[in-house]
Amino acid sequence: MIKQSTLNPEQASYRETVLAGDYWMQKVSAGQTFRILDLEGNQAADTLFFNADDTSERYSAIDTIREQQNAYLTAGSKLMSNLGRTMLEITADTCGRHDTLGGACATESNAIRYSLEKKCMHACRDSWMLAIAENEHFGVSKRDISHNINFFMNVPITEDGGLTFADGISGAGIYVEMKAEMDVIVLVSNCPQLNNPCNAYNPTPVEILIWD
Ligand SMILES: [Zn+2]
Repeated sequence: MIKQSTLNPEQASYRETVLAGDYWMQKVSAGQTFRILDLEGNQAADTLFFNADDTSERYSAIDTIREQQNAYLTAGSKLMSNLGRTMLEITADTCGRHDTLGGACATESNAIRYSLEKKCMHACRDSWMLAIAENEHFGVSKRDISHNINFFMNVPITEDGGLTFADGISGAGIYVEMKAEMDVIVLVSNCPQLNNPCNAYNPTPVEILIWD
């Protein structure tokens, strides 16, 4: 569902550009609104959410899909935790659909899906591991890495129940915005994937904005 934001980027309390292949890890407080802006189009932002007070509570694709009875995410989707609580709600979305089934790219899956020589290519899971190692104060450990959302990524479910990585439906200037219902740690890997069309084979920067 396409829903425009009413928020003015000039009034955001925080703005930062995240290059492709980099991560962004910050606390977003309850009541704040957080936007990911696809600057050049067709980019995937592989994102994890944790309860800032107890990182064993984290985003759950299973609970989210079951509660909303829809496999795709868009405006109105409540992002649920593994304890069945709403962590954030998507309040605006000019893309219309986001994936939470495809998972993040990893060196292992790159090697299996594409070829053995792709094993050394940078992947989202590496960015997450670097993020948690460089930000120990958030208390997120390797075992907390679980379900994620691929914002802007197009992973349609096929007739026979499979998944395909399809060409993106996002474009330059498309954004998704969500309001935090609890204090959350947000970890975004701006995907460096070069082997499938989710980034149009050309990873590009995203911008993160926060409003109080
Ligand atoms: Zn990736």
